[in-house]
Amino acid sequence: MRTVIVVGASLAGLYAARELRAQGFDGRLVVIGAEPHRPYDRPPLSKGFLDGTADEGQLLLTDEEETAELAADWMLGTRVRSLDARGRTVVLDDGRTVSGDGVVIATGASARRFPGPLLTGVHTLRTLDDARGLRAELARGPRRVVVIGGGFIGAETASSCVALGHDVTVVEAAQLPLVGPLGPEMASVCARLHARGGARLLTGAGVAGLRGTPTARARGSVTAVELSDGRLLPADVVVVGIGATPHTGWLAGSPLAVDDGVLCDDGCVTALPQVVAVGDVARAGGVRAEHWMSATEQPRTAVRNLLAGHTIETVRPLPYFWSDQYGSRIQFAGRRGDGDTVRIVEGSPEGLGGPDGLGGPEGGGRGAGFLAVYERAGRTTAVLAVDRARPFMKLRRGLAADRAAELAGV
Ligand SMILES: Cc1cc2nc3c(=O)[nH]c(=O)nc-3n(C[C@H](O)[C@H](O)[C@H](O)COP(=O)(O)OP(=O)(O)OC[C@H]3O[C@@H](n4cnc5c(N)ncnc54)[C@H](O)[C@@H]3O)c2cc1C
Repeated sequence: MRTVIVVGASLAGLYAARELRAQGFDGRLVVIGAEPHRPYDRPPLSKGFLDGTADEGQLLLTDEEETAELAADWMLGTRVRSLDARGRTVVLDDGRTVSGDGVVIATGASARRFPGPLLTGVHTLRTLDDARGLRAELARGPRRVVVIGGGFIGAETASSCVALGHDVTVVEAAQLPLVGPLGPEMASVCARLHARGGARLLTGAGVAGLRGTPTARARGSVTAVELSDGRLLPADVVVVGIGATPHTGWLAGSPLAVDDGVLCDDGCVTALPQVVAVGDVARAGGVRAEHWMSATEQPRTAVRNLLAGHTIETVRPLPYFWSDQYGSRIQFAGRRGDGDTVRIVEGSPEGLGGPDGLGGPEGGGRGAGFLAVYERAGRTTAVLAVDRARPFMKLRRGLAADRAAELAGV
């Protein structure tokens, strides 16, 4: 291959560029990214960057030395509009084209917006520019913040807003937040973190709409969130954390199959052998993960297969994610299924507060955390920790080894 084009200049795109060079590709490397920024890390956007304990310099994923070593043509602030039928040429927003022999799709996902008119004070949190805007607004003094969605990003944003001294309410449509990834038992335990941290959590609460100041100008300001049962939650700031949609629109008209992500095999190879997909945008082997770890693990295999011209290696990493909320670190690894039993093997969830969220036997203060395993038919399927990083890592390594043995047919 003489030219490889990486579309998406963020985490997975950068790791793909690194892998291309590490695996001996010495041709032309073009990295095209819609954002004007050099690759930066998103996890701190809802954590340290939002609460002011990390600055922009700490978000950067690469430095000048590495940039020089990669010897890539960076086309930042440039959006790709389409991919041709042969999967070799991309068309840019301004009509220019870039042709290559291989393409890495690393276009990630964008935050879902709440339908309705645009109102000042309503935010999503996906990009550095989103985070800058929200951070600036939160710096203007105490605000009534309503976070729509109690998933990881919603919970972390709520936690950062509480740390900054704002009055925070989290609205979750399901009966429990995080029930999908954690299952009902552990989701109910982790939901107590909100109360312990000082945020209100409303569950089973759908949002009917956002209210704004009537204005003759184009854009009013948000004043309240209206729930489906008619309740009005006064709000100066609303953060919408209702999930993300993979960036695949630019692939319309290409031969690639798209269904909630770019469909590819276990080796991240799409229907065209010279096109691979990695990170949040990739549905590899039927699974699309929106986790930092997948975005950094997939590129090695994807690039091997790209350079080989067909799938010679597969990647089925053990799913892993972490989340920082109200001073606690949640870590989860594995594949949990409905009906798995959960066993606490260390510590106790009691320190996270009672089931009513008002404080457990330890007075609702920060406990020493706990470690739980999910089990099915006598086997461990997943592991969850709250503030138990060391024993968690040990169990995670064990799970990964079991999985590797299973895939190798041992
Ligand atoms: C606020 C926040 C907190 C997070 N916290 C955690 C965490 O604690 N733990 C964890 O495991 N994960 C976390 N994640 C998820 C993690 O950051 C993502 O999994 C990771 O960023 C995915 O990387 P990616 O490169 O695949 O996609 P992205 O980071 O979304 O990057 C895709 C890039 O492609 C660009 N692009 C899109 N379309 C085009 C186009 N047509 N042309 C050119 N460029 C394009 C986009 O502008 C973007 O820069 C968090 C995410 C967010 C937003």
